[in-house]
Amino acid sequence: MDDMVKEEQYITTILEDQGVICWGCGSRLIIPCNTHIFKCGWCGAITNKNAQKHEHHGFQWRRLRDRCFVSVLILFMLFVICGGFWAVYPVVFSMRYFCGVFHFIIILVLSTSTISTFSLAAFRCAGTPPILPWGSYPAVDKGGLENYTFCLYCSKPKSPETHHCRSCGMCILDMDHHCPFIGNCVGAANHRFFIAFLFSAVISTVYVSIMSAYAGFHLWPSLPNMPLRHFTGSGTDVAFRMLKEIVIAFFNSALVLSARGLVLAYLFIASLSVQIGLSVLLWQQICFIYEGKTYLSQLSSQGDTDVGKKGCQNLFRFLGCPYLASRYFQFLFNSKKSHSK
Ligand SMILES: [Zn+2]
Ligand SMILES: [Zn+2]
Ligand SMILES: [Zn+2]
Repeated sequence: MDDMVKEEQYITTILEDQGVICWGCGSRLIIPCNTHIFKCGWCGAITNKNAQKHEHHGFQWRRLRDRCFVSVLILFMLFVICGGFWAVYPVVFSMRYFCGVFHFIIILVLSTSTISTFSLAAFRCAGTPPILPWGSYPAVDKGGLENYTFCLYCSKPKSPETHHCRSCGMCILDMDHHCPFIGNCVGAANHRFFIAFLFSAVISTVYVSIMSAYAGFHLWPSLPNMPLRHFTGSGTDVAFRMLKEIVIAFFNSALVLSARGLVLAYLFIASLSVQIGLSVLLWQQICFIYEGKTYLSQLSSQGDTDVGKKGCQNLFRFLGCPYLASRYFQFLFNSKKSHSK
């Protein structure tokens, strides 16, 4: 009797289960009725039963807006470079001819490296995933699409490292994030250029802030001399009045400042604030690369499973250093470990 009841239950569960086609290899799989996401035992592809085709909406407009913003940024950089050079050169050339030439060469190198790496990061494709055969059983090997999902925008396989960017309208290999300032994704093909741009921009802004402060110091009108006998009274009262006089004199002298001086003051404040922002971003990026993560994997729970893979070898792999260099550093690290034991 018991056996009959069991058999009946078994039959009902079989009836409740249903057949679904794996998008990866085209196999027909039987899955329980309440399961929406399943993995194919042959190709390893993950199918979401309820997923529906998505359409791109307004991605061309987003792309156009990003491109316009990037063009404005390039014009702004050119303004900073030309304006900075114009504001600083009378001070630098007045010192010594050699200093002027040296300053000109540094400006040329820094501006060329910053603008070229920025353009490469902005206008280069961020990373196209490799084209794999999919959809039919003989074409796909066993485990050939392990943990691949199906991109519902592009209608093609998407590896675990690949993400679809709705602003770029395509799947990006090793996507880190979509950066609005370069109007492009940061992925496998332009991540190095992005880091090179940040590095170059930080050095350039440090140089601009130092030079504008130096030239501004020379160009700023001197404050009027005030005899000390003016200030009589108790300690805190004198200090307060002295501070007030200095601030007023400073603003009065700023009013008679030339256009050159104003450009220098602007450059100093702008370069200092941009420098702080970019340094934080660069440091964050280097930390992610060291830990073997991307910004997106950090956001998702995937970041936790990669703990333990961190190390300098990630940085070397990222920079494309020769195999021997990374082996040497690994050896150094291991020997340090064995000494400490
Ligand atoms: Zn399959
Ligand atoms: Zn896609
Ligand atoms: Zn993007």
